[in-house]
Amino acid sequence: MDMRSISEDAAGIERRRPRMRYKVGAEQMEQVPSLTQRPDGIFRSARTAPVGATHAVDAATDAVACGITFHGLDVLDQDWEEAFFVEKCPGCFAAVVAHGEASPGA
Ligand SMILES: [Zn+2]
Repeated sequence: MDMRSISEDAAGIERRRPRMRYKVGAEQMEQVPSLTQRPDGIFRSARTAPVGATHAVDAATDAVACGITFHGLDVLDQDWEEAFFVEKCPGCFAAVVAHGEASPGA
């Protein structure tokens, strides 16, 4: 399977991070009817957003970085490390930072 062509296609969008390492795992979701402001514009559509702390879910193994087992965790197809708009679980944050330092050049 040729992964190279896929990552090259995505390079224009995510140049810094070719592959998502962790997804956003939300304990609770809620509808947000208000404007959503993003770097590329403002969107006026209802969408769901995580409420409270979110956990880092390993994109490859589905394991939660801080080690909790939470039934009904909503895993979003979003990069947890890039998700500045959510509250991050301190345990996951520490685990993700530790992982990043443990694998130089990755
Ligand atoms: Zn966590």
